[in-house]
Amino acid sequence: MKYLNYNFAENGNIFWENKDNLYQIPKTEIDESYDVVIVGGGITGLSAAYHLNNDKKILIIDKHNIGYGGSNRNGGFCCLGGTKLSFEEIDRKYGRSDLEYFFKIQKSAIDLVENILGKNIEKNEKGEITYYYNTKQFNKDLRELDKYKNLLNINYEKLTISSLKQNRQLISGAVGAIRLNYGFGVNPKNLVCNLVNKINISENVKFLENTEVKYIKKENSNFEIEISKRKIKSKKIIIATNGYLNNKKISGRIYKNIIPALSNILVTEPIDNNLFTDWKTNVLCTDNKKLLHYFRLLDDNRILFGGRGGHSYKNTTTYKIILENDFKLMFPEFSEIKFEYFWRGLVGVTFDKIAHIGMNDNKYYAYGYNGNGVSLSTFFGKLIAEIIDEKITLDELPKCVTSFPKSMNFPILKRFYLFLAYQFYGLKG
Ligand SMILES: Cc1cc2nc3c(=O)[nH]c(=O)nc-3n(C[C@H](O)[C@H](O)[C@H](O)COP(=O)(O)OP(=O)(O)OC[C@H]3O[C@@H](n4cnc5c(N)ncnc54)[C@H](O)[C@@H]3O)c2cc1C
Repeated sequence: MKYLNYNFAENGNIFWENKDNLYQIPKTEIDESYDVVIVGGGITGLSAAYHLNNDKKILIIDKHNIGYGGSNRNGGFCCLGGTKLSFEEIDRKYGRSDLEYFFKIQKSAIDLVENILGKNIEKNEKGEITYYYNTKQFNKDLRELDKYKNLLNINYEKLTISSLKQNRQLISGAVGAIRLNYGFGVNPKNLVCNLVNKINISENVKFLENTEVKYIKKENSNFEIEISKRKIKSKKIIIATNGYLNNKKISGRIYKNIIPALSNILVTEPIDNNLFTDWKTNVLCTDNKKLLHYFRLLDDNRILFGGRGGHSYKNTTTYKIILENDFKLMFPEFSEIKFEYFWRGLVGVTFDKIAHIGMNDNKYYAYGYNGNGVSLSTFFGKLIAEIIDEKITLDELPKCVTSFPKSMNFPILKRFYLFLAYQFYGLKG
């Protein structure tokens, strides 16, 4: 099935690269054995490598370039994330202490990114606005926030139409909005670049790009890893392939739990200040339509506009046109504006709508950020490093992310499951 081949020829025209975030991946000879081999050079893998004790010999292998996956091509919403479950659903399914702990993790994840980026953060306002088009849903979400605000100490605001208008944050058709005062916008390539540069300072981590890990086999206390006609050994393995995982020979049960979903992004040309009417805010924005959109104003008055990516790599032009039309419906004032960038990428969706971290078949993994993994992948990479370095144990983490989720019965039907996921969950990123 073509969809499962992930040849990702349509890399697209990604906006994020600039002269300050180009990084050099040093070419090195590969040794026979390592302490830790990390499969996948996105944020999860890079963060794990950066946080591991530097007495370990580490190799990061990526099938493409370092950062090629979601990490260099996301919308840069560094927010609370990693799940499509509501507070109430987490509370009901996993209990109050899990809810509290997971919320704390989500907040710490944002702080960790801020820390890694240092001064390299864009100058946008903090927080994320979600627009509602349906009063019933708006009131339901407000009631939920009210219920948990004291327990979780949630910092949020209800935004009425008049306050939205006053702050130039109004989108036509919206009945109101909620602003969660966590998170900020990043240039995602800056995050990858910062992690690579930090890793490069220490000698113990090596990179191997454009190399697919084809097979991982347990050999006594070591792993044997097959890469282009040769084998290397490692004491520990981290699977950090998220939505780009397409090989059950490297991942075992994880393969059956992750559904790769496409997400598409457009970036406009810089827009003349005079054309902006009711909406001109640099707070991150999403809507709560079933098939969600996410949008933000970039520094040079461009708008980044993202949404669902469809079920197939084919018909890219069709999906681009669909997204352009959605943009014009939302922003009729920009109907003549041109789009200068368009790209697609894969996010990792899970059956139980929450990200996972753990160990299976002695392989460590972190995946399934459900389209919202900029902050959480950074944090999960750090947690995996701490587990391997025996600074913490898996048991200490909340069950909602460590319990191994149910697998789908027929992974060959992933594309169909994705269709269902779009129908039921609505996907960001
Ligand atoms: C278009 C788009 C928009 C998004 N927007 C947002 C957003 O605004 N905010 C947010 O929080 N999240 C967003 N996300 C999600 C976010 O980007 C991801 O959650 C995050 O980047 C996951 O990082 P990762 O390191 O786990 O995986 P990835 O960055 O996807 O990296 C996985 C890597 O594994 C490699 N790989 C796969 N198989 C193999 C193999 N067999 N051998 C070697 N290497 C292999 C791939 O080449 C890839 O580079 C978006 C994602 C996309 C695609």
